Amino acid sequence: VPIDFSVDEELKSKLAWCLEFVREEIEPLETLSIPFEKLPRVLEPLREEVRRQGLFAPHMPLKWGGSFTSQVDLALVNEVLGRSWLAPVVFGAHAPDAGNAELLMLAIEQTDNQALVPWLERLVAGATWSAFAMTEPEVAGSDPYLIRTTARRRQDSYVISGHKWFITHGSIAEFFLVVARTKEEGRDSLSIFLVPADSPGVRVIRDVATMEHLTPESGIGSHAEIIFDEVEVPQEFLVGQEGRGMALAQARLGPGRIQHCMRWIGVCNRAMEMMLERAASRYLHGSLLRDKGMAQRMIAESYAELEAFRLMTLKAAWRMDKEGTRAAMTEISAIKFFGARVLNDILDRTLQIHGALGYSADMPIQAMLRAARAARIYDGADEVHMMFVARNLTAGINPVDPPSEWIPRRREKALKKWADRLS
Ligand SMILES: Cc1cc2nc3c(=O)[nH]c(=O)nc-3n(C[C@H](O)[C@H](O)[C@H](O)COP(=O)(O)OP(=O)(O)OC[C@H]3O[C@@H](n4cnc5c(N)ncnc54)[C@H](O)[C@@H]3O)c2cc1C
Repeated sequence: VPIDFSVDEELKSKLAWCLEFVREEIEPLETLSIPFEKLPRVLEPLREEVRRQGLFAPHMPLKWGGSFTSQVDLALVNEVLGRSWLAPVVFGAHAPDAGNAELLMLAIEQTDNQALVPWLERLVAGATWSAFAMTEPEVAGSDPYLIRTTARRRQDSYVISGHKWFITHGSIAEFFLVVARTKEEGRDSLSIFLVPADSPGVRVIRDVATMEHLTPESGIGSHAEIIFDEVEVPQEFLVGQEGRGMALAQARLGPGRIQHCMRWIGVCNRAMEMMLERAASRYLHGSLLRDKGMAQRMIAESYAELEAFRLMTLKAAWRMDKEGTRAAMTEISAIKFFGARVLNDILDRTLQIHGALGYSADMPIQAMLRAARAARIYDGADEVHMMFVARNLTAGINPVDPPSEWIPRRREKALKKWADRLS
C-alpha cells in the first residue's frame, strides 16, 4: 500500500505558525526559572493564543474540546512542540495529561460512565493536572502483573491501598489514575481508578530527586512517591471495566508512546541545528570543524538516523490512522526504543561537537541530554519493547528444520524442476 504523508495547505500554515510561536514565544522562557505558582500567569496568555489558532489539545477529537484530525497531522505538530519542554504544556499536549485524557475518553466511550466526564473536560481544557500511578518501588515496573496495590470492594465503593513512585506530576495533580489489583492473579486482575488527590489517605511522601532534577521541586517534570492508605472512592470512579485495566492502559500507552517519539524528533531537530551551527563556526587545527572528517561523520550519522526515526514515526502514525492503534503496536514499540537511542546519540554528539561549552549550563544541551536518558526507561524500557517487537515478528512462524533456505534441499528441488533443461 503506498504510504502518503502529504499535508494540505491549511496544516502547512498551522505548522509554520507553531514553529514561529514556539521559537519566539516559548523557547526564550526556558532560560528563566519561573516558580510553579507563577507559571499560570505566564502560560495562560500563550495558551489563549494557541486556542485562538484552534491548536489546543491537539491529541483530542473536536468533540472532546481538542483539535485532533489525524495521527500524521499530530506527529507533525508534536515534532514542532518537542523543540521545547514547555511547548507541550502551552499547547495542552503534555505527558501524562494527554495520555490520561485519551484513557478517560476511551473508558467513557466503552462504559458511558458520566461520573468521569467533568474530570476529562477539565483536563482537556487545561484547567488541571493529572497523574498516572502504576509503578511501585518494591516490584519491577516492567511487569505490571506484579503490582501489589489493591482495590477492595466495600459496598458502593472501592478501598485502595498501595505504594507508588515515580508518579509524574504526583505532587501537583488534582487526580490520579491508579492501577490496582482487584483480583489475586490472572490477566484480568488489574483495574484503573480515578482517585482525587484530596481524598483522605492519599499521602505524597516526596518528589524524587533524579538525574534531570537533582534538587527536586514540586512542579512540571516532577516525579512523586505516594502512599494510598485505605483510600475510599465511589464505584463510579472505576475507569473502564473491572479487570480490564491493562487493556485500557495499553490503549493509552500506544498513543502516549508515539507522542513521545514525535516530540523527541523536535528535540533532535533542535540539537541538529546547534550541531550544524557550531561545526560551521568553530575553527581549529587549520580549518572549521565542519571540514574535519570525524565531525562530518557525527553530522552525517545524526542526519541519517534522524531521517530514519522520523520516517518510522510517520509510518506508525499513518498505520494508526489507517488500521488503528492495535495494528500499529509493533511499529510503535520499534520507534520507542530506536527513537530513544537516536535521541540520546544525537544529543551526545551535539554536546561533543561543542566541547566544554556543550557540557556547560551556558547551553541547553546538557539539560536536554539528562532529560533524554529517561526516554530509554519510561513508558516501557528499551528491552521490553525489543522483546515485544521480536515476539510479534516471530509469532505465527512455524518451526522448520532444516531451515527453508537449506541449500542441499533447494538444490535438489531446482534440479528436479529444471531436469529437462539441465540434462
Ligand atoms: C522520567 C520517568 C517518568 C516516569 N513516570 C511515570 C509515571 O508517571 N507513572 C508511573 O506509573 N511510572 C512512571 N515511571 C516509571 C516507569 O514506568 C518505570 O521506571 C518503568 O516501567 C520500568 O520499571 P522499573 O523502573 O521498576 O524497572 P524494572 O522493571 O525493575 O527494570 C529494570 C531494567 O530491567 C531491564 N528489563 C526489563 N524487562 C526486561 C526483559 N524482559 N528482558 C531483559 N531486560 C529487561 C531494563 O533494562 C529495565 O530498565 C517513570 C519513570 C521515569 C524514569
